[in-house]
Amino acid sequence: MSGDRNRIRVRVHGAVQGVGFRPFVNGLAARFGLSGWVLNDGDGVLLEVEGETDSFVDALQADAPPLSRIDDVVVEGIASTGEDGFTIRMSQSGAVSTSIPADAAVCDGCLSELFDPADRHYRYPFINCTHCGPRYTITKHLPYDRPQTSMAGFEMCADCAGEYKDPLDRRFHAQPVACPACGPQLSMEIEEIVARLKDGEILAIKGLGGFHIVCDARNEDAVAQLRERKNREEKPLAVMAANIVSLKTLAVIDDVAERTLSTSARPIVVLPKQSDNGLAPSIAPGLGEVGVLLPYTPIHFLLFHEAAGRPDGTDWLEEPHALALVMTSANPGGEPLVTGNDEAVRRLDGIADAIVSHDRDIVVRADDSVMRMVDGAPTFIRRARGFVPEPVKLPRTVPDGIALGGHLKTTVCVTRGNEAFVSQHIGDLDTPEALIFFEETVDHLLSITDVTPTWVAHDLHPDFHSTRFALDMAAESDIPALAIQHHHAHVAAVVAEHSLDGPVLGLALDGFGLGEGEGTHNWGGEALWVSGANYRRVGHLAELPMPGGEAAFRAPWRIGAAVLHQLGRGAEIAERYAQMGDINLLGQMLERGVNVAASTSCGRLFDAAAGLVGVQPTASFEGQAPMKLEALATNPTVMENGWRIDDGVLDLSPLLSRLADVGVEDGANLFHGTLIAALAAWAGELAAQAGTQKIALSGGCVMNRVLSEGLQRTLRDAGFAVYRPHVLPPNDGGLSLGQAWAVVCRLDA
Ligand code: ZN
Ligand code: ZN
Ligand code: FE
Repeated sequence: MSGDRNRIRVRVHGAVQGVGFRPFVNGLAARFGLSGWVLNDGDGVLLEVEGETDSFVDALQADAPPLSRIDDVVVEGIASTGEDGFTIRMSQSGAVSTSIPADAAVCDGCLSELFDPADRHYRYPFINCTHCGPRYTITKHLPYDRPQTSMAGFEMCADCAGEYKDPLDRRFHAQPVACPACGPQLSMEIEEIVARLKDGEILAIKGLGGFHIVCDARNEDAVAQLRERKNREEKPLAVMAANIVSLKTLAVIDDVAERTLSTSARPIVVLPKQSDNGLAPSIAPGLGEVGVLLPYTPIHFLLFHEAAGRPDGTDWLEEPHALALVMTSANPGGEPLVTGNDEAVRRLDGIADAIVSHDRDIVVRADDSVMRMVDGAPTFIRRARGFVPEPVKLPRTVPDGIALGGHLKTTVCVTRGNEAFVSQHIGDLDTPEALIFFEETVDHLLSITDVTPTWVAHDLHPDFHSTRFALDMAAESDIPALAIQHHHAHVAAVVAEHSLDGPVLGLALDGFGLGEGEGTHNWGGEALWVSGANYRRVGHLAELPMPGGEAAFRAPWRIGAAVLHQLGRGAEIAERYAQMGDINLLGQMLERGVNVAASTSCGRLFDAAAGLVGVQPTASFEGQAPMKLEALATNPTVMENGWRIDDGVLDLSPLLSRLADVGVEDGANLFHGTLIAALAAWAGELAAQAGTQKIALSGGCVMNRVLSEGLQRTLRDAGFAVYRPHVLPPNDGGLSLGQAWAVVCRLDA
């Protein structure tokens, strides 16, 4: 064949629009001396080339633009037309670009212009091109075109328009293109921002998906002040440094972590702290880890550039720099992230000393994504900016629909064809602001996917806002609403992601979800047999008492005390928890069994352990006590006979009793080691009974690295195939995908 002139038609599916694919094809055709054309249509990219096409198809896939994702390429030989030259054709009429890319960090091309004094984009905080810049967060509707974005109000200058229209330019059809002459402007000089930060001030700086609260991460006074102003919130704060060499002085970064941090999505990655890293102690109090991230907007890069003394060129980008900045979401009181300029003035007054904004509106709110290394792989804690709206591939084509998630760490999920579009992290639906964000997200996601749902999925819990919203939506649109049990959804999310066939044993190691059937409905440590649309609860953790219901939620000591009571050691409560306040009331509650709910939650089991060993008796956020306990578990050990398994119920009472009598570190090691061994034994037994070798792990506790790694290793050593979430968080952020999958399986059945 080689040397023959032929003509081929090539269809490319995937994320290939709005990412510079057509100019790339144009360049490739020039490289191989081919004639033909390329265009965008409703299916992706279509092209024809004529000449010696052999190497063209390989290069098409190997050298594709950085932000593209090719799902498949279909090549068909056709008759020669003998045409000369290569053209980029206009999009086919009526065809709508059906994909909006995710936001991407500044590319190398733009960085070299940003720091080149001779370039017209020199030090311009909004530089971008086809390979980088804002996308999802500035786009209102389909198609992804400048008039549909918050760049609509900025008229391109002649230089920008020239680049935008030039098929050979890096900025060809880059919708947000801008320069100092025609684009958005920052409200404060970079020089002043850096001076104020070095002075210990706390600033609110507008980013891609919302405002950040920013301060010098090495200045303890500033960081302590920030915590004070954010109502003494104790959640760990993320830290940004100029580059990987600089980050390596703050955290322990291996190759996988480095690759994860450096992707165009630029997530926060939670990593082990480097000892003596010089960061303010209140960055992540009591924890052995710190969340770090690299700069991703031109503004971020300019801050580090300024601090480095404004060097020309890009060499400085490879050198170590001392500046480290706290970059935390500006979300006062746990409400959604602040995105609007006026809103920033109103809501961040009292937190920030000054507000740095600009005139490019944030259309869609998106927090920074957060990941953690578990078992050598990045695992989502929160999936948002940089990843959304990239779809999750489903095992097959399904009817269009929407799943509305749960109540905490909520996301929603829209299905279209064989793709599932999971929204950015919306958060806890506890405030009016969060409910508005939730409803906006539903509307926006349906709009940008162009989906009219034929079904709607929701949690089994009747009182969740998401459930009520689903029922209203179903009534209004006359479509079926289907309830999916919380932990079934957790397991189904893993089944969908890994395209698992046949029955699996799912372990949902979770906080709380409403159960059904006999016993307590406060589920959260469940063993489920799941096959397609069906599930059966084949086991659960033994019930633990939760005195005062909600009050126990953030008070591990109360659960610890209740467990002591359950173990017949109630007499010890008064002395152990003397400083905790309402001991007498708690004692009476436990004696009379009044207002003491029961729960099978794995999260509460962690709280009980923390309460018994005396780690973090009260917590300022869910998961704080378990995080501390995990940080202390450096050498997990197994307590012989630390558990009992009876008819599918895993009872860890012997372990809990022992925890009351050991020190904090021994307790943390004993708890983790024994829990791993117990869960593995339990799951192995249940999987054997269910006749499956496949075990799916999900639920918030799967983010616990010690537990997750230990459990996976033990189960794999025993011959099981173990699956857990990789493309979505194991916590309730992944629930909507599981609801969607469970519903489409049910509709099929
Ligand atoms: Zn760029
Ligand atoms: Zn311009
Ligand atoms: Fe959950």
